[in-house]
Amino acid sequence: MRKPIIAGNWKMHKTVAESVELVNGLKASLGNVSPQDIGVVVAPVYTSLYPVYEVIRDHWIKLSAQNLFWEEKGAYTGEISPAMLKDCGCSYCIIGHSERRQYFGETDESVNKKIRAALHFGLLPIVCVGESLEQREKGTTFQVIEKQIRGGFTDISPLQMQKVILAYEPIWAIGTGRTATPEQANEVHAFIRNLISQIFEPQTSDELCIQYGGSVKPDNTESLMKQPDIDGALVGGASLKADSFASIVMGTLQAYGKA
Ligand code: PEP
Repeated sequence: MRKPIIAGNWKMHKTVAESVELVNGLKASLGNVSPQDIGVVVAPVYTSLYPVYEVIRDHWIKLSAQNLFWEEKGAYTGEISPAMLKDCGCSYCIIGHSERRQYFGETDESVNKKIRAALHFGLLPIVCVGESLEQREKGTTFQVIEKQIRGGFTDISPLQMQKVILAYEPIWAIGTGRTATPEQANEVHAFIRNLISQIFEPQTSDELCIQYGGSVKPDNTESLMKQPDIDGALVGGASLKADSFASIVMGTLQAYGKA
């Protein structure tokens, strides 16, 4: 059985003091949870990465960035390199979130460069894919996802793919309170797993962690996590409070029969 991973994307929220308070609260709430059963990742804003790392450096909660730039260093004002993120204590980096594709012009090509740079520097990518409402209504969901995956994972080896987490995030469900039904989500997850097995190898696809993201809340966690191809969640809004994020972790453990 694949181990579920729950990641909290804090987006552009929280000062340093607020971030430290949140991660301390989360640490306290997860006191009885075993890292054997579940992985937990938090993705604060850049300015809070190192202060949050100082709280969790001896804990099993892992740190993620929300973005990176693919160059190692140089005249790229405002950008952050993978090595700098590692230096702040990051183990993971979210890549290709729909908000970055939508507002900051990210393409499958730039997502591919970022994935390759992350892997080169030893950061584990959490790669987001997902269709818009218009694309779903037109019946092109699978084509959209396939294009994002083939483009994003160009020139990635099966060995590198073992380090990747994929997050299926239907854009129409992000921050809208509208969640995909467990069956709707699982249908796309199963499609992704099958596609990964064609592009890479069946073993890579069997072991791949595919998270669901889009208005995951404590009260819908268990039904989503019970689906056979859903292996955790990428959580936005509900990760901003320690108690709701911890409830999502608990709901996942419940769904996996570990609570
Ligand atoms: C996200 O930003 O990745 C996300 C899923 O947000 P929310 O949980 O708020 O829909």
